Amino acid sequence: MKTLREYIKEADEKGAAIGHFNISNLEALHGIYNAAKKLNLPIIIGLSEGEEAFVGREEGVALIRAIRERDNYPIFLNADHHYSFESVKLAIDAGFDAVVIDVVKLSLEENIAVTKKCAEYARKISKKENRDILVEAELGFIGTSSKVLDKLPEGVSEATMTTPENAKYFVEQTGIDLLAPSIGNVHGMVKSGNPRLHPERVKAIREATGIPLVLHGGSGSMNEDFVACIKEGIDIVHINTEIRVAFTDALRKSLADNPEETTPYKYLPAAVAAVETVVEARLKLFNNLK
Ligand SMILES: [Zn+2]
Repeated sequence: MKTLREYIKEADEKGAAIGHFNISNLEALHGIYNAAKKLNLPIIIGLSEGEEAFVGREEGVALIRAIRERDNYPIFLNADHHYSFESVKLAIDAGFDAVVIDVVKLSLEENIAVTKKCAEYARKISKKENRDILVEAELGFIGTSSKVLDKLPEGVSEATMTTPENAKYFVEQTGIDLLAPSIGNVHGMVKSGNPRLHPERVKAIREATGIPLVLHGGSGSMNEDFVACIKEGIDIVHINTEIRVAFTDALRKSLADNPEETTPYKYLPAAVAAVETVVEARLKLFNNLK
């Protein structure tokens, strides 16, 4: 099987992006995988620190590995938004395929120091264990909360967007494989509508850094904005909030419709199907499929 790095390159050459979807449980994983398999597309499953604590670090690795090996399917596991070198190290040691070090709240120089340490550790373990662990870092603030928001998070503005100059310096100093820039994107879904994305900034950052870019906070963005950004150099798109909303709404309805039902495998399939529907639509968009 090709490595995740190779799948990213392939997506880039096709003008497509790989979908990254977060899970908190097995049901969401099934919904996401059903959609990916139907379209025969590689996929990345994300576990943030909070999600990882709930699912279990080793359990998460075992789940993804079981599917990958049973079906010979390109499904990969990413440690999404890990906030320290220590938690990145635990994820790498447990067998994650990729990690996101997020120390964007530190100063630029401190961010560089921690991120570089993560990248060096990933290199060392990749070499030692014959793996290819990818390290991603974030530059420019995009908020932290994957939920439905009343208003734009504080500190997210045109002024905090990533500049090509900073991005180039950051990538050179750290040696990361993937960069998550701030280009108008924001974590979570803003009730009044998410801000517009800036494809021209994606293009400039991509040209300055030369590495694949990752779009976080994809939930709630407009379809045409996604397509434009993918064309300009976004190779992975993160979707989390939309899945959480679909899962929870479907589960609430299922429980309300069947108040006597106590068998989880009878009231949960509606939530699995709702996740599948969201993911299928997003994957089609990211891969230029009708
Ligand atoms: Zn994110």
